[in-house]
Amino acid sequence: MPEDSAGFADMGIDPAILKSLEEMGFEEPSPIQVAAIPALLEGRDVIGQAQTGTGKTAAFGIPLLQRLRPDMQRPQALVLAPTRELALQVAEEIGRIGKHLRVRELAVYGGTPIDRQIRSLRAGVEVVIGTPGRIMDHIDRGTLKLDQIRTLVLDEADEMLDMGFVDDIDKIMGYLPAERQTVCFSATMPDPILRITKRHMRDPVQVSIAREELTGPTIEQAYFEIRERDRVDALTRIIDHEAISRAIIFCRTKRSCDELASALQARGYIAEAIHGDLNQAQRNRVLSRFKDGQIELLVATDVAARGIDVENVTHVINYDIAQSPEAHVHRIGRTGRAGREGTAFTLIHPREFRHLKLIERATRSRIPRRNVPTPTDVAARALHLLGERIVSLVEQGAGEEERYAAVASRLLEEHEPERLVAALISTMADPRSTGGAGSGGGPELGRPAARTAGGGADFPDTGGEAGYVRFFVNIGSRDRATPADFVRTIARQAEIPGGLIGAIDIHESFTFVEVPRDVAQRVMEAMSNATIQGRNVNMEPAKPSR
Ligand code: AMP
Repeated sequence: MPEDSAGFADMGIDPAILKSLEEMGFEEPSPIQVAAIPALLEGRDVIGQAQTGTGKTAAFGIPLLQRLRPDMQRPQALVLAPTRELALQVAEEIGRIGKHLRVRELAVYGGTPIDRQIRSLRAGVEVVIGTPGRIMDHIDRGTLKLDQIRTLVLDEADEMLDMGFVDDIDKIMGYLPAERQTVCFSATMPDPILRITKRHMRDPVQVSIAREELTGPTIEQAYFEIRERDRVDALTRIIDHEAISRAIIFCRTKRSCDELASALQARGYIAEAIHGDLNQAQRNRVLSRFKDGQIELLVATDVAARGIDVENVTHVINYDIAQSPEAHVHRIGRTGRAGREGTAFTLIHPREFRHLKLIERATRSRIPRRNVPTPTDVAARALHLLGERIVSLVEQGAGEEERYAAVASRLLEEHEPERLVAALISTMADPRSTGGAGSGGGPELGRPAARTAGGGADFPDTGGEAGYVRFFVNIGSRDRATPADFVRTIARQAEIPGGLIGAIDIHESFTFVEVPRDVAQRVMEAMSNATIQGRNVNMEPAKPSR
């Protein structure tokens, strides 16, 4: 297994940039980076077919930064991007990669006052990332000097074309020094783009990530579309809903593996991270615990997972989408081994949709969409599983029928069977309703069960999301409370899966926490004798201030 960013180091990348890549938790270059970076470092023009999710930003960002000449206060690299969102994202990524070069980058886009951008440009920036309209605006005003530009990047060129920027792009390219490198990244290569590249690029190298057809393993797949801030929440609901107890979860970077494993642990899951920062002994230890079933969820980078050969992995979850179809096939091949059925789920941000489509095409498989389960779905599913468990107990025989036979027939004589079973289920789903006894009694759910019948308390509008009650809690950031503190404490006290808990909004001296309406009463009661960071909790329904 390659150690650290060995792959990057072999590419002749500046040590200051390698340091950033290590800090960002990149383990190895993605396929598009392997294909594009060497040519770009040589100074060649490059046409790349790649979309968000492939690592294309670093593919052009690393060489662009390495080619900057120090101590020049003028823009030396210009990136054109279709939207403000992408411009900001590219600027952030370039800022992170260039951290130790002390590069100044600036995103410029329309819809915000131009004055501040002008002041920043005057103060001196090396890399400008902008939407074509706003860049033209700065050129017309003379506030953006182009005479020192050495690299031009067209990012998501086809999108810019669709948005009607083709003339602006053509014009901007005409203003640039002839001695420069031109890079064009696009998901598709329609005619107008080919015309621009013919006119403005010199003998470009073509790179792409999907050249050959792949045959992926035939296992069940699905994707879930999520918003960035809901990623962990969505994942835990999927895990609970599918009752997943043996999965490999893939993240892009070493950093995100560690963060996700901690977030899952805080929510009561038995999860561990595995990646190239662990030494061999540590890796072996994690792996053997996963093999023994002591760890339910193994959170891994692609590099770390390559050496893994574990049977009975029921699910592979792509928490971050793979950077190429090959990597996707490799990942999902970790499940469904030895003739057993396996399932692979992929979480995607809407921006990554086109990348998902490309993976589908390259692997000749269709990946259907599924909706992230709601808290109610999760709770209903937990009850369903409890029902199945009871049936299997009856079928197998719990082994103690004789001991309970007499009381069972008496109960059946005196009560309706349906009501009896319902009461039993409710005690199994909520061990506390037996009055606190019952240790070693009934079977328990893998994770504390969620309840659907919540005691019927009525909360007026508290300003929470639909289906949620928003609570005011008297503890905040000055008590050093973190979201994990709230999740852990609520999950333990109220015995509900941490994944059910909604938004947590921490202020200095208080916090708003949202929980599903059907468990709200129970949470409020259970929290009345809890402490967070050593302070007694006071929790009450919030006022709908928003
Ligand atoms: P992009 O396709 O450029 O939008 O990148 C998607 C995500 O992948 C970003 O969060 C990058 O920081 C991340 N990324 C890019 N290259 C790598 C790499 N070699 N290893 C891990 N993550 C990467």
